[in-house]
Amino acid sequence: MRGEPVKKQFFAGTACPHCKAMDKVRRCEDANGAIWLECLACGYTQDLTEGYVDPDEAAAAESAQPVKWQPR
Ligand SMILES: [Zn+2]
Repeated sequence: MRGEPVKKQFFAGTACPHCKAMDKVRRCEDANGAIWLECLACGYTQDLTEGYVDPDEAAAAESAQPVKWQPR
């Protein structure tokens, strides 16, 4: 069950997977830790509580290469 969202965060530059509206998608989180996407344009919602990876975090993890220090 989703309660009232206690956190709302817009995804800039993200298109709704349903209606393709840009900048209408926001991430909501309620007091119970449920996380979901919500589109303000068409009302589409997508549950993100399980298995969601933040695109920014995924990109950061991928680009974080160990730096090799080479003594000369
Ligand atoms: Zn939509």
